Amino acid sequence: MVELNSSITELYRVGNTTSKLLKKLGLETIQDLLFYFPFRYDDFSASLPIASLKPNTNANVVGTIELIQNKRSPRKRLNITEALVSDETETLKVIWFNQPFLARNYKSGDRISLAGRVTENYGQLTMMSPSHEKIYDQDLIHTQGLIPNYHLTTGLTQKQIRHLVKEVINLANQVPDWLPLDLIKRLALLNIDTALHAIHFPKNREEITAAQTRLGFAELFLRQIKAQLIKQELKSRRAISIKFQEEATKRFVDNLPFKLTDAQRKASWEIILDLGKSEPMSRLLQGEVGSGKTLVAIMALLNVALNKRQAVLMVPTEILAEQHYQTLLKLLDGYNLKIALKTAGHPDENINQADIIVGTHALIQDNIRFNNLALAIVDEQHHFGVNQRQKLLDLNSDKDRTPHFLSLTATPIPRSLALAMYGDLDLSLINELPAGRQPVITKIVTEDKRPEAYDFIRAQIAAGRQTFVICPLIDESDKLGVKSVKKEHEKLDQEIFPDLRVGLLHGRLKTADKTKVMNDFIKNKIQILVATSVVEAGVDVPNASLMIIEGADRFGLSQLHQFRGRVGRGDHQSYCFLFPSTEEITNTVTIERLNALTKFHDGYSLAKMDLKLRGAGELYGLVQSGFADLQIASLFDFELIKKAQDEAALLVKEDPGLTKYPYLREKLGEWDRVSHLE
Ligand code: ADP
Ligand code: MG
Repeated sequence: MVELNSSITELYRVGNTTSKLLKKLGLETIQDLLFYFPFRYDDFSASLPIASLKPNTNANVVGTIELIQNKRSPRKRLNITEALVSDETETLKVIWFNQPFLARNYKSGDRISLAGRVTENYGQLTMMSPSHEKIYDQDLIHTQGLIPNYHLTTGLTQKQIRHLVKEVINLANQVPDWLPLDLIKRLALLNIDTALHAIHFPKNREEITAAQTRLGFAELFLRQIKAQLIKQELKSRRAISIKFQEEATKRFVDNLPFKLTDAQRKASWEIILDLGKSEPMSRLLQGEVGSGKTLVAIMALLNVALNKRQAVLMVPTEILAEQHYQTLLKLLDGYNLKIALKTAGHPDENINQADIIVGTHALIQDNIRFNNLALAIVDEQHHFGVNQRQKLLDLNSDKDRTPHFLSLTATPIPRSLALAMYGDLDLSLINELPAGRQPVITKIVTEDKRPEAYDFIRAQIAAGRQTFVICPLIDESDKLGVKSVKKEHEKLDQEIFPDLRVGLLHGRLKTADKTKVMNDFIKNKIQILVATSVVEAGVDVPNASLMIIEGADRFGLSQLHQFRGRVGRGDHQSYCFLFPSTEEITNTVTIERLNALTKFHDGYSLAKMDLKLRGAGELYGLVQSGFADLQIASLFDFELIKKAQDEAALLVKEDPGLTKYPYLREKLGEWDRVSHLE
């Protein structure tokens, strides 16, 4: 029998290939599937007569297929399936790309339900690539009502995910509800069973809202409980007190090629004061992309190392680890310190001999224990969860030597929210950019202007600058218009810029190759770097002045802002060109979203804009790129956050061991720590 923790492969539609793809999305068990929430709903509540359709709207249509056939478009090497579908009122043209099998699956005379965007093509109403479903006598889950949209990976379709969720949704009543019952009653929240049904297959907007509130609250509550437990735990711990190395710090600052900003000075000082104490520091350093957080971190690392103690700097990607490592080697040259690098590709370093260790998750994965660690810094913290934070605290086995903790983030949340979100963290803010930074000039570029954009690249490179080109995918996909790095690299390298040095960077390259490409780019041996989102976080090449983003509509606003943050880091006026996918160019929401980037240059305004444009029925995708352990809760729902914080504090105070809440304890997955507290 299929149960919550049964493997997804027990479902009859899931074979080897599908299960591998699902795994990419983090879906391995039935429970995972139930908790894989849609990020958006298409509203096809009413199916419309074809005669009443308007261009640039979403619609559901039910009709009969008059004609269906395949065509080839030789110029674009596309396979096009064209159909005419009619109801009593009118006939509609329907087009799908590269799905020739559709002309076999459907025949003239079939009844079909279609859901998608209506556009106008040479005066004719057309539906491009709609979702479709043959009508027998069954529930329609793909094309009618509020249709859930899930994040996908290449090779999976919305249909598949919906079918799978439909198949297991009745197991939702077996999910243990980890929210205390009296809390659910007191706050009038949905129980978990009802909430899961409603989030996947809502009957109306109200159901979605109620489900979001319940599930969002649960996430926030869990996070707050963890924060409270850590806070409580930290009170019982001691840290190594670090003496301020005034002389050396001054010398370090004097040797920099620029002056620190006042905000950098203030933040460094707050950190240095904290390090001097024997209570473990818990501090968040928040600052806009490019505000110079790294330097502040380096001053902390330096002070610890000169106290003959160890410090680690943990980052989300290998590329960033390598880059920080190089920066440290350069800036801390002459202090006689041993700096080590620990990533999946550099596993063998004997890090206990080192003064400063830079690394990825690999640092906390292999149960490494230090004997002399005084400081743990996490860069771009939003890629980590609270659990990982706990692991960092235990990197020294000795409780009287708990490392000081500092987290660096560019996630744009207001101060009050940051405090609420992290509950137990103190906050340092870098609220100014280094002098002389000009805003990155940002433009949406349509296909017909592509040659001019290429001329612009050429001119920038002739002036000595460098260019990033970001693509959404690694390999060529069957999806229309989505660019892959490999193809794009080939094209730019061989056809467009055969005379320039064009490099390729993506996550699947071997470590040594990644390092080489990145180093070549830093040294300007590569002039154009074609890359995937691996360059999103933190990459710092001040000579790069141009950021080109292909398929820009495929990325969230916060992510696009991060990409753009890779340029405009030096003295040169910088530019960001957004190329939307061809089929999105008529989508007004897409264009408005991208337009926001041309108008706003700070992360906070963009995050707010993102939320606004997502509209009422959409789940809050901001968090997706914001906090790894939050799927659904909104960082802007201050009231809900506050409520979760108050309730969590109350509960932990009354029952620090969570003895009365076995499900909650299980959910926290932190048996050790909890029993440790009792
Ligand atoms: P982020 O806050 O995004 O991590 P970085 O620390 O990577 O930013 O700094 C961005 C760039 O700005 C780096 O090239 C860094 O050397 C430079 N930088 C840092 N502080 C200053 C400053 N006070 N004046 C000028 N440039 C600075
Ligand atoms: Mg950074």
